Amino acid sequence: MADPMTTMIEAAKNPANCLNELRSTTGRPVMFVMPMYFPREVLDAAGFIPAEIWGSEKPLSASGEFLQPTICSLVIGVFELGLSGELGELAGAVFPSTCDTVQNSEGLWASRFPDGFTGHVVLPKITSAKGAAEFIEAQIREYMQELKARTGDDVTDEALSEAIARGNRARAAARVLLDMGLDGRLSAKERNAVFVLYNLMPFDEFASLAEQAAEQIRSREPDTAAEPVLVSGMVLGPQSVVDLYDSLGARIVDDDLGIGRRSIDPDVDRSGDPVAALAARHLARRPCCTFHHSGKDRAADLIDQVKGSKAKGVVFSRLKFCDPEAFDYPYLSGALKGAGISSVLLEIELGTLSLEAVTTRLQAFLESL
Ligand code: SF4
Repeated sequence: MADPMTTMIEAAKNPANCLNELRSTTGRPVMFVMPMYFPREVLDAAGFIPAEIWGSEKPLSASGEFLQPTICSLVIGVFELGLSGELGELAGAVFPSTCDTVQNSEGLWASRFPDGFTGHVVLPKITSAKGAAEFIEAQIREYMQELKARTGDDVTDEALSEAIARGNRARAAARVLLDMGLDGRLSAKERNAVFVLYNLMPFDEFASLAEQAAEQIRSREPDTAAEPVLVSGMVLGPQSVVDLYDSLGARIVDDDLGIGRRSIDPDVDRSGDPVAALAARHLARRPCCTFHHSGKDRAADLIDQVKGSKAKGVVFSRLKFCDPEAFDYPYLSGALKGAGISSVLLEIELGTLSLEAVTTRLQAFLESL
């Protein structure tokens, strides 16, 4: 039997396979969650596998009939996975209001998968706006009512509180592993596996696996020879780019990735009403390109993160055609420059990607640090 970290790496290489195994071992139905920021605790409490899959490396094919090639490969990859049948039977899917691309693809998904329940939640773009918390609460409650109308089962406060506890356990387990990247005990490939599986697996199953993996690698010798970098963007990249960080001698000490720290932080408060606590968690998230957070400046937050992790530079890992990240890039890179922090921009795609250009840029950047 493979050790826990090898199990995580192998599972993360093929999220659809992993999902199908989870479906058969747990017997739970699967609700697909479109990235990002839907409170997966609601689905965990309702007995679903809340499977948030951040795209695939499948290029535009069957979805080319209704998706243009000039949208991000994350959304294309999700549709290709669904249309190919690799995700197996789905109870439905939920679309948060992440960005224009995600919002506009909900109707396309519903038309392609008419037998499942395609739902959505709208999250406020200005998170400091008056009434934002109440608005999110109302959205979550409305979704729960729609879910109940479909399944016949109520999600009780007690069940939601228990799911929140499971979610907090999973986040704590993920953070223990991610923090091992500070002294080089966690490779990029392992870090990516933590992200992929945290978002894909039921919370308890992920937490058990991650806790075992942490025990396994805790006693590794620190390896601080590689250059410490922080990666910012939505995803680390396709497997070939993830592997580049390790082979070129980069040590990812921290991240500002949508699939990474922005998914995992912060925890949910367990002291009050669980739906209100989920809404409060959303408003307390790290700054993100997909919403305006006037209480926290993203550049200042990023600079603090760089200083706290002792990263020597920042790699912007930008998915081609991701407008939200593209809009933030000039301001973020300018602020880093003003603070004397080097950065490099890698334009990546999950499907087709010319690795030569990315390799050259990353290698030259690491040599310059
Ligand atoms: S990567 Fe960017 S464009 Fe694609 S779904 Fe996420 S926010 Fe939207």
